[in-house]
Amino acid sequence: MQKTDVVIVGSGCSGLYCALKLSPDQNILIITKSQVENSDSFLAQGGICMLTDDSDYDSYFEDTMRAGHYENDKKSVDIMIRSSRHVVQDLMDYGVEFQRNPDGSLAFTREGAHSRKRILFHEDLTGKEITSKLLAQVKQCPNITIMENTTMLDIISTDNTCYGIVMEKPDHTLEEVFAQTTILATGGIGGLYQHSTNFPHLTGDALAVALRHKVELENIDYIQIHPTTLYSQENRSFLISESVRGEGAKLYNKNMERFVDELSPRDVLTEAILAQMKKDQTDYVWEDLRPIPAEELQKHFPNIVQHCREMGYDVTRECIPVVPAQHYFMGGIKVDYDSKTSMGQLYAIGETACNRVHGKNRLASNSLLESLVFADRAAQSITAGVETTSSRHPTTEEILGRLYLRNYENADALEQSYQEQVKQQIHKEQQSRKEVV
Ligand SMILES: Cc1cc2nc3c(=O)[nH]c(=O)nc-3n(C[C@H](O)[C@H](O)[C@H](O)COP(=O)(O)OP(=O)(O)OC[C@H]3O[C@@H](n4cnc5c(N)ncnc54)[C@H](O)[C@@H]3O)c2cc1C
Repeated sequence: MQKTDVVIVGSGCSGLYCALKLSPDQNILIITKSQVENSDSFLAQGGICMLTDDSDYDSYFEDTMRAGHYENDKKSVDIMIRSSRHVVQDLMDYGVEFQRNPDGSLAFTREGAHSRKRILFHEDLTGKEITSKLLAQVKQCPNITIMENTTMLDIISTDNTCYGIVMEKPDHTLEEVFAQTTILATGGIGGLYQHSTNFPHLTGDALAVALRHKVELENIDYIQIHPTTLYSQENRSFLISESVRGEGAKLYNKNMERFVDELSPRDVLTEAILAQMKKDQTDYVWEDLRPIPAEELQKHFPNIVQHCREMGYDVTRECIPVVPAQHYFMGGIKVDYDSKTSMGQLYAIGETACNRVHGKNRLASNSLLESLVFADRAAQSITAGVETTSSRHPTTEEILGRLYLRNYENADALEQSYQEQVKQQIHKEQQSRKEVV
């Protein structure tokens, strides 16, 4: 049994940033199911949005709302946009480098459904640049410990208050971690799907645990499909970033004719591609990166160019086959503006949380920003000690008396059942929404 002040489940950008923003007086344990580099945060290609100047506020707000079908929480959107410059400055202070113009100013790119250029990027490896720099900072903090290949199997709770987690360690032994605050930062749900851009180990474990403990969830049937991933039989679908279309790439049907506005919101574009595939009776449509000047392709998208080459496609000479795949999860564990869940002493941040900032559909490059902004707010809330908890906490011994580690011994079966429960719940939500409509 371990005791700590804060336990964070997940080492993506939200978990790492939250750890850095907590007080250095707090002892923090971060656990992560795989190796630290294996988080979706490392995969983000396109970039991170920032309010370029005040004149862009209305347009950025409207783009986010329109992409979200106006189901977004306006206050969450406002908080995210207004916090963006601070977060970006913070990232740069941590050593994150973004593309710059020849005069040294920050360079911005554009993606689908953005009416202006407002996305900061680092080649097509923005997530890796941000997350590796955050990780480097975390490693320098003596108050933060990271345990890799360690899986949260459950939270410890009583009377709707969370007291920590049960985890399975790399040697498959089980251990309880008691903490004043528990933060769920477990990312998306792509591992539940056959075709997804996510790491396969991201299976929505925090959602299953939330279901088990009656922690409120929200909009868990709001799942974003990315319109363009490279068609292949690989385990993880390789994403062809939206920025490529922002810079001029075109989509063609089987007769090499355009059939859609390439800068439509993701859900609209996905529907158009799936309809076209059905009409053409094909497994993919074609994407043409040749309208982008070769020099720009190499400079802005070296990772995409390289990956396509490895898969046998020279994007400077030929089109590539692309197909939609599961990509992002707008729903999640219901949280307030400080990332608090419906359970005392339990927070949720990043993709596993739902503060309704994205509404029904996320605007491109808003998720890294949202993850960081609301991770910071969780940290501030914890530091301010505003958490309301039940007046008398049970002692560790009292809780241990009720916790039976043997219930977790068959961890594989438990994880399987978690996945089934999450899938069933998503299905249930989808059905009930259809009935309402
Ligand atoms: C290919 C790709 C490209 C993207 N491009 C962009 C982009 O350009 N711009 C943008 O804004 N967003 C982008 N996104 C989305 C963005 O990367 C994610 O939404 C964001 O990084 C999520 O961060 P996170 O901290 O919530 O989760 P993640 O970074 O996914 O981290 C989740 C962590 O939880 C851990 N974990 C999960 N379950 C458990 C468990 N049971 N026990 C212990 N640990 C657990 C995992 O090991 C991992 O460390 C992209 C996503 C993908 C997949």
